[in-house]
Amino acid sequence: MEPVRTPAPIPADPGTDRARFSWDMARGWLQGLPRGRGLNIAHEAVDRHAAGPHAGRTALRCIRKDGTAQDLSYAELGARSSRFANALGGLGVAAGDHVFTLLGRVGTLHVALLGALKHRCVVTPLFSAFGPQPVATRLALGNARVLVTTSTLYRRKVEGIRQQLPALAHVIVVQDDERDGLPTATLDWQALLASASPAYEIGPTDPQSPALLHFTSGTTGAPKGALHVHEAVVAHHATALYALDLRDGDVFWCTADPGWVTGTSYGIIAPLSHGLTVIVDEGEFDALRWYATLERERVNVWYTAPTAVRMMMKGGAATARAHRYAALRFIASVGEPLHPQAVAWGMEAFGLPIHDNWWQTETGGIMIANCAGMAVRPGSMGRPLPGVTAAVVRREADGGVAPIEEPGLDGELALKRGWPSMFRGYLNDEARYARCFAGDWYLTGDLARRDADGYYWFVGRADDMIKSAGHLIGPYEVESVLMAHPAVLEAAVIGKPDPLIGEAVKAFVALKPGIAASDALQRELLGFARTRLGAAVAPKEIAFAEALPKTRSGKIMRRLLKARELGLPEGDTSALEAA
Ligand code: AMP
Repeated sequence: MEPVRTPAPIPADPGTDRARFSWDMARGWLQGLPRGRGLNIAHEAVDRHAAGPHAGRTALRCIRKDGTAQDLSYAELGARSSRFANALGGLGVAAGDHVFTLLGRVGTLHVALLGALKHRCVVTPLFSAFGPQPVATRLALGNARVLVTTSTLYRRKVEGIRQQLPALAHVIVVQDDERDGLPTATLDWQALLASASPAYEIGPTDPQSPALLHFTSGTTGAPKGALHVHEAVVAHHATALYALDLRDGDVFWCTADPGWVTGTSYGIIAPLSHGLTVIVDEGEFDALRWYATLERERVNVWYTAPTAVRMMMKGGAATARAHRYAALRFIASVGEPLHPQAVAWGMEAFGLPIHDNWWQTETGGIMIANCAGMAVRPGSMGRPLPGVTAAVVRREADGGVAPIEEPGLDGELALKRGWPSMFRGYLNDEARYARCFAGDWYLTGDLARRDADGYYWFVGRADDMIKSAGHLIGPYEVESVLMAHPAVLEAAVIGKPDPLIGEAVKAFVALKPGIAASDALQRELLGFARTRLGAAVAPKEIAFAEALPKTRSGKIMRRLLKARELGLPEGDTSALEAA
């Protein structure tokens, strides 16, 4: 194999480069596969470093639940992911096949994802807190051929639904509970890797070929699989430079769960593409543990979320100040509105502001941000990144959109198509994809306003989606599970404002004739939903209703339920069915 060139230097001063930025320029910051064989995310994230001067640098520092740590260098991550790529080949898995992971925050996820990308498979990381129902739905919709999970998660969430998934040919299991042994009809991760070669040459990869499939919820119907291509790495790399202020030699910590897009784009790909050391904390959220981690690991850049910040704020800034964060240079947040108080708390607790930024599954990478070197405007999501054209638009009667030029007015947030990490389709649903665009504008489904200085402010969702602890939850998926209970006639689900988690999932349920509402039934329904959906998605509250408000065409009016719940004006109810 031809020697791999050393990594292209990242620009020393992104501030200067910002003015002359182009996506072509950002393409030049990556290396590309040797001999002009295209662009592969895994090559940029690991192989080019493993073959260069940073081979011995720690790529992953995995902190176990008990606080002990295990390091993996770029050379080791390269070899392990190559072993997995070879193992997939040995199983007859082909380029283009779909590989899923159902894992917590563990280094195995990085190995599996990068190995599958090397083998040119399409990868979907699933959220490990999902219950069996959302797992089954996504594995089936995504045509999963391979699943990598742990023996504990397999037994809890997959074993019972396996027969519904005939296309799922291989389940590879990391045994995290030796006493149980290997579940039947699964393969052992360790054994598979041990018998595979650590050398793997990535095949020619078209930058426009599918690489990642991220499920996101829709207001109606099944979850949508947003497809991203290998070229997305150009945006992961460049946006992290501007919005997260990454610098050579940094220790970087992204606290997002790997089952959501942030955990992939910025928990794995972006920092590794910069050759940084990535912290992977296997433990659950615990404010004291997090402060200790930031201090002990000398984290330079920390990317977190408003719910986590609010939970830390509860403990008071003095608790945070009990530690010293000598290395911490930049804090960023994403996923839900970051209130001005949270930005101020960052100053009190860490002596640094928290930089809000905005993006979504479909955009694949950060689009709008309060960047380093730019005045943070507390409460604002920031300004569009270099290479990103945003606008607040109004939908026109003819189906087109018109940008609202005047600042301060509400409209839908839209982005001009053409950035490399833009999703290239919803899996098997071209019509739904087409509906997201009006000419060259991608319509985000978020409402926003732009001020006179070009900063964007989040106003709300244009649809009924719920953001709970940073997780986007589709009401339809929750309603479908409730309606599977024999006592339920119909259900409607809304997001109820919650001071800690942003919004809590609340369900309104109408019972079948002859069935009486009771506390016992309410508890049973909460448990029923929780077992199937998982705690992160299931309703926290269920209220019984005689009947649910509907339009004359029979569509449940979730907005009206929400307005009534919050004591807000009911808005236009002209379409409401007569009671
Ligand atoms: P997801 O696709 O799960 O990443 O969710 C994306 C959605 O989260 C966006 O469309 C917004 O509604 C919301 N979101 C993301 N970042 C922010 C932010 N900084 N402020 C307000 N809402 C946000």
